[in-house]
Amino acid sequence: MSKAVSIAIDGPAGAGKSTIARLVAGQLCFLYLDTGAMYRAIGLKALRLGVDMRDEAAVSALLDKTALDIRFTKSGQRVLLDGTDVTGEIRSAAVSRAASDVSALPVVRVRLVALQRELAERQNLVIDGRDIGTYVLPQATYKFFLTADVEERARRRLADLRARGDGQANLATVLADVRYRDKQDSERALAPLRQADDAILIDSTGRSIEEVVDLVLRHINRPEHDRQYSTDR
Ligand code: C5P
Repeated sequence: MSKAVSIAIDGPAGAGKSTIARLVAGQLCFLYLDTGAMYRAIGLKALRLGVDMRDEAAVSALLDKTALDIRFTKSGQRVLLDGTDVTGEIRSAAVSRAASDVSALPVVRVRLVALQRELAERQNLVIDGRDIGTYVLPQATYKFFLTADVEERARRRLADLRARGDGQANLATVLADVRYRDKQDSERALAPLRQADDAILIDSTGRSIEEVVDLVLRHINRPEHDRQYSTDR
C-alpha cells in the first residue's frame, strides 16, 4: 500500500482546477499532476496523423506506437510526446476537443489511468482531472470537486487562450466548446465526469483564486482530517 498522499481535484473544463491545483501543490510542497495534459497529448497525435477519434481500433494502434512521458520540473509539468516537448502545443482549442474525443475511448483511459496511478504511488501529488476521486484514486487522501457557472468557465478559458496568443478565439466558440466537452465528459460510459460522494464541492463562481486556494487548504488542515490521515497511515 502506497504511503503517498494524494489530493484529487476534479471538475469540468474552466473551473480553475489547474490554477488551484498548482498553487495548493506549491503551498504543500507536493508535485502537481495535470492529467488532462495526457489526454491532450494523445489528442494532438491523433489530430496530427488524421486518425478517426471514434475508431477505437485505430486509436489503439496509435497508442501502441506512442511514447508518453511526464516530467516534473521546477517550472512545472512537461509533457513529452515521442520524445518531443509538446507542453505548449497541447493547449489549443482544437486539441481541447480532440482530448475530449479520445478520452471517451476505454482503450485510452485504461492506458493513461495506469500511468496516473503509477505516478501517484511514488510521490505526494495534487492531481487534477475528471475522474480522479471516482475512478483513478478512489482512496485519495482528500477529494475536491471544483465547479463554476458555465459562462464564467468559458470566459476564463477564453482569457487563457488569448494569454497564449490565440487571437482567433471568441466567447461564442469557447462557450460551445466548453458545453461540448461538459456533455461528452459527463456522458461517456467509462469513468464519466462526476462528483465523488466523499468529495468536497467548491463552486468558484465569483470567488477569487486566493479564496478558493484558502478553502482547499483550510479543509486539508482541519484537525479531524489530520487524525484520519495519521491513522490511515
Ligand atoms: O483538463 P483539461 O481541459 O486539460 O482536459 C482535456 C480533456 O481531457 C477533458 O475535456 C476531458 O475530456 C479529458 N480528461 C479526462 N479525464 C481526466 C482529465 C482530462 O477525460 N482525468
